Parts: sequence; C-alpha cells; structure tokens
Amino acid sequence: MSAAFETVVGLEVHVQLATRSKLFCPCPTDGFGAPPNTRVCPVCTGQPGVLPVLNRAAAELAFEAALALNCRLAPASVFARKNYFYPDLPKAYQISQYEKPLARDGWIDLPGAGRHVRIQRIHLEEDAGKLLHAVGSRELEGSWVDFNRGGVPLIEIVSEADIRSPEEAYAYLKGLREVVQYAGASRCDMEKGELRCDANVSLRPAGTSGFGIRAEIKNLNSLRAVKDALEYECRRQAEVLASGGRVAQETRLWDAQRGVTEPMRSKEGAEDYRYFPDPDLPPLVADAKWVAELKARLPELPAAKRERFASQYGLGAGDSELLTSDRSLAEYFDAAARGLGPAAAKLAANLIATEVLARLKAEGLAPEAARLPAAELGALAALVEGGTLSSKGAKAAFAALWEKGGSAAETVARLGLAQVSDEAQVAAWVAAALAANAKAAADLKAGNDRAIGSLVGAVMKLSRGKADPVVVNRLIKESIKP
Ligand code: ADP
Ligand code: MG
Ligand code: ZN
Repeated sequence: MSAAFETVVGLEVHVQLATRSKLFCPCPTDGFGAPPNTRVCPVCTGQPGVLPVLNRAAAELAFEAALALNCRLAPASVFARKNYFYPDLPKAYQISQYEKPLARDGWIDLPGAGRHVRIQRIHLEEDAGKLLHAVGSRELEGSWVDFNRGGVPLIEIVSEADIRSPEEAYAYLKGLREVVQYAGASRCDMEKGELRCDANVSLRPAGTSGFGIRAEIKNLNSLRAVKDALEYECRRQAEVLASGGRVAQETRLWDAQRGVTEPMRSKEGAEDYRYFPDPDLPPLVADAKWVAELKARLPELPAAKRERFASQYGLGAGDSELLTSDRSLAEYFDAAARGLGPAAAKLAANLIATEVLARLKAEGLAPEAARLPAAELGALAALVEGGTLSSKGAKAAFAALWEKGGSAAETVARLGLAQVSDEAQVAAWVAAALAANAKAAADLKAGNDRAIGSLVGAVMKLSRGKADPVVVNRLIKESIKP
C-alpha cells in the first residue's frame, strides 16, 4: 500500500458458543451437516405464542469469554429486538443486545507486536437460519431455508478501530480465537462457521488521527481470507483516494476465488433496525457470586502461559508461541517438561514440534489423544540431554513408544539405542578407525582440522551409530596430540 495512507481496521467477530442447546429453546446445536430442519421447534422457527427462555450455559460461556478478553461485565445487560425481514429469520427480528451489551472495554495482546487492540463491546445474540440455493436440480430448483442454525447462541466481539494492517488483523483474530478456545467458550471451528468475521476498513492520510470513510467486508471465513481481503481493499481504496475520488460507505463481499471485494449494498444504519428492548426477556444480571465462580473456573490464558514457559523453562518466543497455540498442546508440553531443566525442556519442545505434531496430524488426533504419555516424552528428552541417547536414537525410540507404548528407559534398552560413552570401548573404536584411515589421521596431525569428519564417521560406522560423538571427538583429538 502507498505510504501516503495509513490503514485503519476494526473487526466484528461472531463466535458460536459451545453449548449443547440453542440460546432460547432446548433444540440441539449439532445441526451442522445434519439433514435440514431436523434441529427445530416452535420457538426457533418463530411460531406464534411461544416464549424464549435464556440458556444459562450460554450466558456462562459468554461471561467467561468476556472475562478472558479482559472486559468489564455489565451488571445487567438487556436483550433487544433487531428488526428486519429476511427469509432466514422467521420472527422478522433477531434477539440481540444493543444499548446494554453484556460486556465492554476489553483488550487482546498482539503477540510479538508489543501492543494490544481494544475491544469495544461484546453482546449475546441468536444466529439466523441458512439459505440454500439449489440450481440445476429438477426437484430442488429454487431457494430453501434450513433453520438448524437458527437460534444457536453467538457472541459478537467488536474491536475498536485499533488495527493498523492486514497482518495485525490476522494476528488479532488468531489471538482472539486462542483466548476464546482456552476459555472453553467456543471451539471456533471456522470451517463449520463457528467463528465468522466482518472487517471494517478505511484509509487516512499518514500522520492524521481522524477516521476515513469505511467499507465493511463480509463473508470472510478464514484467517487467510481476512488478510487477503484487507490487502485487496486497502489497495482499492488507495487508488480511489489517490485519483481524487471518494470511498463509498458500503458493505462489500469478498470473492475468494477471484481475489476481489465487490459492492453488496449500501451500509445500513442502526436506525434502520428499530431496536427496542425485548419484552419477553428479563435483563441478564451478572450476579457477583456467579461471576466470581466463573472467573475461578478460567484456566491460565495463552499470554500468561507464554510468559511462564519463558521464565520457567527458558523457552524462546517461537517455541512458546507454537506450543501455546492450542490449549491441550500446551498442557501436553507442560506435563512433559515438568521437573526438567531448560536444556531438556528445549529438547522436549523440539520433540513435540517435530515428532508429536507430525504423528497427531497424520493420524488426525488432538494433542490430548497423543499415544505417548507426556511423562514418557519428558523422560526421552532427559535421556537425550543426559547423553544416553542421540537425537537420531530419540527419533527411533519415539516411533517405538508411539506405536507400542511402554517406558522410555525400557524401550531404549530393549532396542539397544543407548549411546556408548564408556571411554575404553570408544577408545578401541577410535584406535581401529585411525589404523584403517591412515591418510586422514596423518592429515589431521598435519593440521587439517577438517580431516576429523571422516574419522568420526569411521567410528560411527564401527559402532553402528552408538558411539557418543562428544567422547569420540575428544578421544580422536587426544590421540593425535604429540
Ligand atoms: P456498525 O454497528 O454499523 O457495524 P460500529 O460503529 O459498531 O458499526 O463499528 C463496527 C466496527 O467498525 C468496529 O470494529 C469499529 O471499530 C469499526 N469502525 C468504525 N469506523 C471505522 C472506520 N472509519 N474505519 C475502520 N473501522 C471502523
Ligand atoms: Mg457492522
Ligand atoms: Zn428450537
């Protein structure tokens, strides 16, 4: 983007809460991929005469997400009707919150950037149904509506316009997803639509502090899409402004296939919705004792975990970011590294980043389903750190442990993977290697340090890879001393 402009972005993120039932009725929330309209009742299809009843679990998850996002909870929040007609909304209003949202004034750290993005407000609302447009099928030709998703609980998390680049938008969303997942409020599976994002973006002359006219981009269903769409939209707006034009205040759609945003409709204002408090629902009161219980239930959050992994185990930023990107992966590492010193903990982190993650991915398993108990992974790292096992040996032992179970020490012994550090044994291999490689030995003696490589290689061959390389190097150097 041209340096003449600064990017200003604010995100509105909808997150599906991980409840078993819907927000105002007992219908199950597992309707994704199920036959259409099999998770519905008179309440979530807007039949006359029904009354909504708030799902307590949804309120609790919303509070927990808000607390984890450093928000202030409203003592009482109020449900409001957002009125509009659309075929996926049978009541012709959505139950949401407007003037009195559940929470305000939070923030999220941008890991690595050393600053945070403020959260303006979080409100609780119900999802709408889903339209399906069938073309080319004789019986199904036309538009259909599936209400399985109608009434599923969502929170909408609205940021301040504090985001300054598409990369920061990506980092914000990634951080938000991590925190919400840690809090257990949502699984945030974007492929199932459990986390959806609308991005508001405008440009302003570099060095100024006002806001330009924004476009709102919808239909962003992956982190990648958010970044790509914002990059495209910033370029487009920069061109409009640079040529003396005005950016239209409008809603645009991201077309991922073509990599462009396109106008969808002119932006609606709040007044278009005729919000008013829903007379069917009492205010949601954030009782102090209840909130304290929920707060106590929150786990250690990602930022705190990253800090602790650095101070307790001496992990670098890259390792702790990778390991904390998923709560159960972080817990696996924590259990593996318990009691290890920094060097062994780093080795455990490496084994997880390579071997464990590769196996989990190949077998489609979550970290908590790892076949190798964390304690044995820690034991393996300790064996490498203590010099019993080479990193190659560790790989072989890991494979055997993953497939057959058992303890690390026993497996290493059974497979004969331990390195030999015994001086007498290594000295015998070194002597044999020097005798068989007279030229290399002579070169090394003459001061060609590189000749040591082939001698070490010869010892490794003789020992079938078991000689401890540290001892081998030392004994070779000692043996050529005059
Ligand atoms: P609406 O409810 O109409 O979508 P809001 O005022 O609630 O609008 O803002 C929605 C989001 O848009 C917020 O994240 C806010 O920070 C962001 N936003 C508002 N104005 C701008 C702007 N000029 N440029 C970029 N983002 C903006
Ligand atoms: Mg909006
Ligand atoms: Zn229902």
